[in-house]
Amino acid sequence: MKRRYRTGDQTWVRERNLAIVLNYLWEAGQPVSRAHLVQVSGLNKSTVGSILAQLQSWGLVKDSGMSEPRPGRPGTLIDMNPEVGRLIGAEIGVGFVSAVVTDLKAGVLWRHKIETFEDGEMPATLQDQARVLKQTEDLVHEAIQQATAGETRLFGIGLGVPGLVDHATGTLLFAPNLKWSNVPLRDMWQKCFGVPVVVENEANAAALGEWMLGVGRQVDNFVYLSAGVGLGGGLMINGKLYGGRGGFAGEVGHMTLDPDGPPCNCGSRGCWEVLIGPTAIVQRVRQAVVEGRATNLLALCGGDPEAIRMEHVLQAAEHGEPAVLNTLDEVGRYLGIGIANLINTFNPSLVVLGGVLSLAGPYILPRAQQEVNTRALAVARKGVEITLSAFKFDACVMGGAALILHEILNNPALWQPKPPPAPPFEDHVRFASVL
Ligand SMILES: [Zn+2]
Repeated sequence: MKRRYRTGDQTWVRERNLAIVLNYLWEAGQPVSRAHLVQVSGLNKSTVGSILAQLQSWGLVKDSGMSEPRPGRPGTLIDMNPEVGRLIGAEIGVGFVSAVVTDLKAGVLWRHKIETFEDGEMPATLQDQARVLKQTEDLVHEAIQQATAGETRLFGIGLGVPGLVDHATGTLLFAPNLKWSNVPLRDMWQKCFGVPVVVENEANAAALGEWMLGVGRQVDNFVYLSAGVGLGGGLMINGKLYGGRGGFAGEVGHMTLDPDGPPCNCGSRGCWEVLIGPTAIVQRVRQAVVEGRATNLLALCGGDPEAIRMEHVLQAAEHGEPAVLNTLDEVGRYLGIGIANLINTFNPSLVVLGGVLSLAGPYILPRAQQEVNTRALAVARKGVEITLSAFKFDACVMGGAALILHEILNNPALWQPKPPPAPPFEDHVRFASVL
């Protein structure tokens, strides 16, 4: 395919400068002076003044007090205006749907999560899909009511899904753990809600959220690992989400770590996610209970090994149950082996663990770190931090809000408020008759 270049006409220059000034305000995170913006952007004073006036007319920035008295005139401070509108982040997970409403600075104003399936039950039919979609849409309607109370503007909805997404159309192509394929979510939701919708793989959304709002701020190379029912990955490379040819990169949960391992929902076997995912952890602990190696756990789950859930596993780990600690140690081992592979491949500064892995951190991280220390190349692993997500189970919905915020920061001119509709025809007639 031939590459297409956009030439730098005046409109392009203006759009870039609007974005640059807004990004400096975002990065500052607090009110700054015009002089500061002139200094950091390298733009001249009158250009910065005209850009700020434009951004202010769209409501994206606001005056925010006066600078400290210093030699010279005190100046007005400028800040992003969090109250100008709302962002919605949503997630369709395996067994739950979730949403947040935030202001423009991603401050959370409302959050809600609902379970869509009983524990252990797996969605399989088209009716299940229709029901979960309806539950998600009801939740988003509720979020919109919260977001637009007092006629506040809703900028858009960022949606994270546990599968492969076609970015050109916003279609969920395949979600192995939901068993969904070819769901045109962006089209459906834009029609349903009447605002821009961005659909992204859940781990990619979460990685963007960490990069803009969480532990990945100012870190341009990191790997995000998200463990729900499956194991997803988001690759932030040189300050951009790495998508690969079709946007499907980062499916690290389906790296083969054991060629003869257990089968995976993707059709392969021995994938990383079947070795370290919560489902695998729970299954191994159940096995230990059935074999009489973790009798203390029986009391926690009412005597039924089938009733064991991840929270029981974590409780038993807290009580020092040896069989559970052994299982988590084994998970830590495979986690470390996979992370060592990723460190050798991508040379990141940071590896961020989200979802259930972030809760089990204390029991699996020491072993994971040990594996990394023995398997990753010394130069590549030097200084790499393995850390926990800032948002844990909210990582994807915060990423959803970040998807919209990222679009706004990238080209604020596209997000200017629409002019009010032209007056109805009768008004013109009346006006003409007065003349
Ligand atoms: Zn797989």
